[in-house]
Amino acid sequence: MSPAGLNQPLTLALSKGRIFDETLPLLEEAGIKVLESPETSRKLILPTNNPDLRLIIVRATDVPTYVQYGAAHIGIAGKDVLYEHMEQHPGGLYQPVDLNIARCRLCVAVAEGFDYHSAVKQGSRLRIATKYTRAAREHFASKGVYVDLIKLYGSMELAPLVGLADAIVDLVSSGGTLRANKLVEVEDITPISSRLIVNQAAMKNRGAQLQPLIDAFSRASLDE
Ligand code: ATP
Ligand code: MG
Repeated sequence: MSPAGLNQPLTLALSKGRIFDETLPLLEEAGIKVLESPETSRKLILPTNNPDLRLIIVRATDVPTYVQYGAAHIGIAGKDVLYEHMEQHPGGLYQPVDLNIARCRLCVAVAEGFDYHSAVKQGSRLRIATKYTRAAREHFASKGVYVDLIKLYGSMELAPLVGLADAIVDLVSSGGTLRANKLVEVEDITPISSRLIVNQAAMKNRGAQLQPLIDAFSRASLDE
C-alpha cells in the first residue's frame, strides 16, 4: 500500500504560483474551495472544504514524482516538466486531461545580433543552455543541428549574455523577459499547457473517487 492509503483523503499535488492560481477557478467550478493560500500560509498540506480532498504544494518539477510514487493520487504539471520527467521515469502516470492553463511556448532564443539562422545553415556546432535537455536534444536532432547542451536550473536568459551559450531553449509567454534582456526568439518548438496527471494504481483502487474529480476538471477546463 502506498503512503496515501485508502482511508486518507485524495491528495492533489501542485506547485504554487501560476499553476496554483490558475487551478483555483477550476476547483471552484467543481465546488471545491481551498481554505488557505500557499503564499501566506507556510503549510505544505492545504485542506479544502471537501474533507475527502487535500492539496500538497511541491516544486513544479517534483509534481510528477509525488504522483508517480503514489504520495499524491493526482497532480497538475506542465507538459514541459512532464516531458523531461518521462525520459527518466516512463510509465505509472495517466494524463487524462489537458487543463489549458499556464499556457506558454517552448522556443529557441538568442542574443540580439546573433545570426542563428546563418549559424544553422553553416552547420556550426551550437552551445545551448536549458532546463529542458530532452526537448532541446530532440528538437536539434530533428533539424540535424549539432549541439552541446548545458543544463541550467533557472535564469536561462542570462546564459547568452555572458557567453555561456549561443542560444537558450526556454518557456516564453509574453516575451517580456526576453525583451528586457535583449534576447530574441528565433524558433518555436512547441506550445505548452498544464495537464492533469493521475497515479495508475490509484485509478484502479480509488477510481470511484477519482473519476468525478477528473470529470469536474475536464468540464471546467473546457471553459478555459
Ligand atoms: P521555480 O519558478 O520554482 O523555479 P518553475 O519555473 O518550474 O519553478 P513556475 O514558474 O511556476 O515554476 O512554472 C510552472 C509551470 O508553468 C511550468 O512548468 C510551465 O508549464 C508553466 N510556465 C512557465 N513559465 C510560464 C510563463 N511565462 N507563462 C505561462 N506558463 C508558464
Ligand atoms: Mg519559473
